[in-house]
Amino acid sequence: MSNPKDKVIKTKNHLDYIPTIGIECHVQLKTRTKLFSGADNDAKEAPPNTLINHIDLGLPGALPVLNKEAVVLAIKAAKALNTRASNFSKFDRKHYFYPDLPMGYQISQFDEPIILGGHVRFFDPTSKEFKIINITRAHLESDAGKNIHPDKKNYSLVDLNRAGTPLLEIVSEPELHSAAEARLYAEKLYLLMRYAEVTEGNLYYGNMRFDVNVSISKDNTLGTRAEIKNLNSFRSIERAVNYEITRQTKLLNSNQKIIQETRGFNDQQGTTYSLRSKENADDYRYMPEPDVPPIILENDFIDKVEKEIPKLPDYYTDRLRKLDIDEVSSYILLDYELEEGKGVLEYVLGLPESDAKAIVNWIINIESPIVLNNPNISSELLKKIHNIYLSLRAITKEGLINSNSIKELIKKLFQEKNIPEDLKQYISKLGLFQNSDSDELDQLVSKVIKENQKAFNDLKSGQQKAIGFLIGEVMKESGGNANPGMVKTLIEKKL
Ligand code: MN
Repeated sequence: MSNPKDKVIKTKNHLDYIPTIGIECHVQLKTRTKLFSGADNDAKEAPPNTLINHIDLGLPGALPVLNKEAVVLAIKAAKALNTRASNFSKFDRKHYFYPDLPMGYQISQFDEPIILGGHVRFFDPTSKEFKIINITRAHLESDAGKNIHPDKKNYSLVDLNRAGTPLLEIVSEPELHSAAEARLYAEKLYLLMRYAEVTEGNLYYGNMRFDVNVSISKDNTLGTRAEIKNLNSFRSIERAVNYEITRQTKLLNSNQKIIQETRGFNDQQGTTYSLRSKENADDYRYMPEPDVPPIILENDFIDKVEKEIPKLPDYYTDRLRKLDIDEVSSYILLDYELEEGKGVLEYVLGLPESDAKAIVNWIINIESPIVLNNPNISSELLKKIHNIYLSLRAITKEGLINSNSIKELIKKLFQEKNIPEDLKQYISKLGLFQNSDSDELDQLVSKVIKENQKAFNDLKSGQQKAIGFLIGEVMKESGGNANPGMVKTLIEKKL
């Protein structure tokens, strides 16, 4: 693990601060119904207050019944977090007053949560090393509803569709030491929860909401922290943490105190603002929930659920590494697989070692941008294109096509309804084969030099930069298919 001292911020006044960040993430579990009621859990576009029943409304005498599916998903989450669900956990009431909380308390887990411990490992491309962030705990709880404040109206509205949806709140140890690390942790946590099939993971709908606790300090003791609530994109996590580090540094440098408080994030301005002074646990008057019995999990049951978990991200990254595919590319593939590129991981793992890296490069730089911008591309076409990647590899290895043209070729193939039977014929029809005809190229070179005398003279006088420009001009003149190595030699001959 890296030393936090490496992350010291140098300030104008030569006061050195170490930022420390802990993250709480509310993951909405993808159960069919709510945590304690039979109302529908999927609240995406439903009209307000249509997915509620007597339990979500907190009507007198309504009795909550625990949703077994939520417990199953928590067991899977535990495994993804490299730990195991507790054999015993229980629910508690967390009291606070807010219009979107009809019962006046949230059913949560206080001192005996379903998950204790665990860790998240991620790769940091800056330091090129793996980091391990420990998980303090994760607990099940029901969500509150939503208050809506219509513009320029003198009233507020309450939508209880979200009230009672099942959440798993995952709390990390304060072991992150930069905004970039906070983002990487959140991105990995997202992949883990998606691959364990715990959540739909739709960030836009708030399926994963991040609260970041940020403090700065000059030594290993923790400074006073501010909590920035409800961040729902990786980018906003990074921006909010950066803003907060700067804000706190300015305060300390001008001998002002940092107040422990809850803050919001203004996405447009990239700034944080004070919401309220931070509550402590005793403000919530936690008490054991009398209406819901504790969760008692037999080891056999945990084992059975763990066996159902699909392959997790580290399974793929470890294998992709053996094919010489770096972690950054692996993470892009893992993301692609979740969205438009279903099957891409197994496909890449099945590739010959000598081709995998080059083909992954095409997938990431050419295929995935095309596919992500074109929802009409069929999985059948994708499969066919994957099959021709191997033939394309053979053609590039023979030096028959340059990297410029291969890009254009793959783009063209994606536009075809039917993949051409004879790939070589198709390439030659498009005029994309590399032109290695020395007479033809020599003519092009002469023409370009004639039209660009200044650049050629610069090159003669030793300005090596000019050769790149001239090669580029010849490539343009050739329609992109000239053999760049030969062009270079031909130009050099004219000197
Ligand atoms: Mn919570």
